[in-house]
Order: sequence, then structure tokens, then C-alpha cells
Amino acid sequence: MKKETKLTHLGRMTSEHYGAVNTPIYRASTIVHPTLDHIRRRQTQPYYYGRRATPTIDSFTSAMRELEAAEMSVVCPSGVAALALCFLTVLKAGDHVLVVDTAYDPTQVMAQDFLRKYNIEVDFFAPRETMADLSKRLKPNTRMIMAESPGSLTMELLDIPALVALCKKHDIALAIDNTWATPLFMQPIPMGVDFSIHSATKYIVGHADALLGTVSCNAKWADKLKHTHGLLGITAGPDDITLALRGLRSLAARLEHHQKVGLEIAQWLETLTFVRAVLHPALPSHPDHSLWQRDFAGATGLFTISIDPIDDTHLAAMLDHMQLFAMGYSWGGFESLILPVIPDRKIAPRDGQELLLRLSIGLENSDDLKNDLAEGFRRAGFTLPG
Ligand SMILES: *Cc1c(COP(=O)(O)O)cnc(C)c1O
Repeated sequence: MKKETKLTHLGRMTSEHYGAVNTPIYRASTIVHPTLDHIRRRQTQPYYYGRRATPTIDSFTSAMRELEAAEMSVVCPSGVAALALCFLTVLKAGDHVLVVDTAYDPTQVMAQDFLRKYNIEVDFFAPRETMADLSKRLKPNTRMIMAESPGSLTMELLDIPALVALCKKHDIALAIDNTWATPLFMQPIPMGVDFSIHSATKYIVGHADALLGTVSCNAKWADKLKHTHGLLGITAGPDDITLALRGLRSLAARLEHHQKVGLEIAQWLETLTFVRAVLHPALPSHPDHSLWQRDFAGATGLFTISIDPIDDTHLAAMLDHMQLFAMGYSWGGFESLILPVIPDRKIAPRDGQELLLRLSIGLENSDDLKNDLAEGFRRAGFTLPG
């Protein structure tokens, strides 16, 4: 079965639910056990306490496990909680972790402000470092690399097979925040990555109305992930999980539009003289385009542009009066977003990135979105053809 067909079938428990197509929302904390023998054998029952599992949770996590080709998937109340769970599954006091300096900002803050408090050593690396340079950062106690590709804000890709080889050689756990690509356009676990993490808040939920995260892993880490998830108790509520499951059903159809319109707008932006760079991995001009071609099955609708610097009055003239593009954190919903971004956590400054605007292309019509941007650029004082 192709992925779009799978998306309509995965996780369904129709025959267990009187023919209902969707698994009902199980609002269950207590699950009662009929006999003494049954409650004594609770660990072998499919359901024995709502924090551990319900049919609602199982419908979603079994779908994610299949999509990620993983051994185990667990659900968390947010993407950030999923990242914390992954760190805590692998690391203990005295360990060393390397984090890519293009990771989602809260991932980097979590590593340096939280993990360090528990005597975990944290270092950062740049996404385009050679494997030889990255090797020099390894220590005898390096236990984990936390990666993200493309990087948040500046969209650098990582050479995942090379990272897998490095990590296997040194017995290091490799985790990837796979939120941008979704499980449809990148499956890290079959490539040898140990953990794939999603902020399901973005494309999986897809409608900007729920927060959710997932961690999936290979057989090597499955027991430890499940155990740590249970210990920390970071499961999610049944309504949010149901919204994510609903989101999965239309994920392929939505991504087709996000990909097509995103690329059309990226190509148009490349023709504008004041646009210095369009940081979109599916464009041949992207420095890591060949990695994208090799490792990804598609591109989603999130990318960044670098434009000629303008003062705040002109920037506000553009951004305060957009008709379709709203300013807001998050992305991956049906609505287009625009955000001025400052990648200030880089270990080495990058050139030509003075004014960056991150665009999340929603489900609107491509010409309408172009017009909205064109009008905005004119308000900012730029000259456009036509
Ligand atoms: C938004 C985001 C997260 C965090 O997700 P929440 O669900 O908001 O906690 C993690 N990683 C990436 C790449 C993100 O964009």
C-alpha cells in the first residue's frame, strides 16, 4: 500500500467499535477489572489504566509506528515534551550530548539550561561541519546526538547516512526532530536513526488547534522509551489525540498542496531582486539540495527567505497589513504565516542573513498568496515587476 492509502486505514479499530469508522474518544482514567485474577495479571491486559493506554491512544500510536516504520511510538502532550522524553530516555548524569545549533530554539535551551543542571555535558555543532570536524567534538562519554533536518529557521540539511555511520561506530544514540518532513517525506528509522521526534502540533494535527508530540524508535530503544514515558507520565488527552488522528487522514492531500504552492512561491520569490536567498531545500539553488534529493520524498510548505535589510517602519508597513499571511509562532496549519526570525544561537555567524522572513504556506490559492506578498513588499518600499 502506498502512503496515502495507508493514512486512511492505519489505527482503525472498526470491528471493535460496532462498525464506527473512527475509534471513539475514550475518556478513561480508571479501567475496572472483573476478577482478582484479572487485576493481578494487569500487565498482560491491553488496558489497565488510562495513563498507560486506551484504544484512542493505541489507534494513534499504532498509526505513527507504521508510518515511521518504527518498533515503538509514544504520544506526548507537546513536541517539546517529546524532545524532553527523548533526552531523558537516553541520558544520565555524566553523559555528553551534541546538539545541532540549528535545532528548534527550545531544544537548544532545554539542553543548555536543563540538562546541564543534571550534570549532563552539552556541546553544539554546526549543520555543515564535516564528519571529521564533528568527530573531534566526540568525547569518551558522548552518548547522544540530537539532530534536526532541515534546521529550524535557516533550513540547513544534515547528511543523515553519514551521521548514522558515525553514531554506529561510536555507539552513540542518534535522534532527529523530523517535524518539517513529516513521516510522509522522511523515515529516519529505516535509515538507521534511533529516534524520530515530531511536533504533531504542526502538519499532523494540521489545523492549529491542538498541541501534541510523538517519539518513535527502533527495537534497540523500544523498552527504554516505553519505560521512561510511563515513569514521567507524559501522555496526552484523548481529544487532542483524536484531532491528530483526524489530521493524519488528510495529511497526504494537504501536503500535496503545501508542497506544490510552497515551491511555486519559492520559485517566484527567487526572481525578485531584493530577495537575497530563498532557503528552500527543493530549490536547486539550496546548498544542500542534493541531500534533499537523495534522502527526502518531498518538501513541505515551510521555508525562509533572506531579503535586503529595511528599517522597522518599513517592515511594520509590510507585516502589519498583510491580508492572508498572519504573524504567529508555530506552522503547518491550513493558514499561511509569516514571521521575522533571528537565528541568534548559531555557534558561528552566517553571512547574508540580516533580515530573514519565515513563511509557512497554508492551503490558500497560490496567486492570492503571491499578491498578498507582492503588496506587502511594495508597502515595505521594494520595487516589483508588473
Ligand atoms: C514547534 C516545534 C517543536 C515543538 O512543538 P510543540 O508541539 O509546540 O511543543 C519542536 N520541533 C520543531 C522543529 C518545531 O517546529
